[in-house]
Amino acid sequence: MKILTCIVCPVGCKIKIDEDGNIYGARCDRGVSFVKRELLSSERILTTTVKVDGGIVKVVPVKSNKPIPKERLREIVKKVSSLSVRAPIHRGDVIYSDEEVSLIATRSVGEAQDV
Ligand code: SF4
Repeated sequence: MKILTCIVCPVGCKIKIDEDGNIYGARCDRGVSFVKRELLSSERILTTTVKVDGGIVKVVPVKSNKPIPKERLREIVKKVSSLSVRAPIHRGDVIYSDEEVSLIATRSVGEAQDV
C-alpha cells in the first residue's frame, strides 16, 4: 500500500494506492488524476531564490517556467545556489536556463543607491 498526499487543493487528502493499483481516499477526480500523474512521472514547479549583487535586496525569487522532474530539483537548486546576478533585475527576466528549463524572476530588484 502506498499513500500520497494530494497537493492539488488545500484539503490535502491522503490517497491510498493498493498493490492492485486501486485508488482510495480521494474526495474528487482531480486527486485521482494527481495520483496517476505522480505514479507515472513526478514533477514540480521549482521556486527558489538567487543571490543579487548591487541590489536593494540580497536575493531575487525565481520560478521555473514549467514543472521539472523531481529527480532534477536538487541538481538545479545546487547549480543556482552558486549563481549571482547583477541588479537591476526585471520581473520576467530569465535568471538561469539550461536545455530543459528556465528560471524566471518573479519580482523586480532595483539597484542599490549609494548615499
Ligand atoms: S482529492 Fe480533490 S479534494 Fe482531495 S486534496 Fe485532491 S483536489 Fe483536493
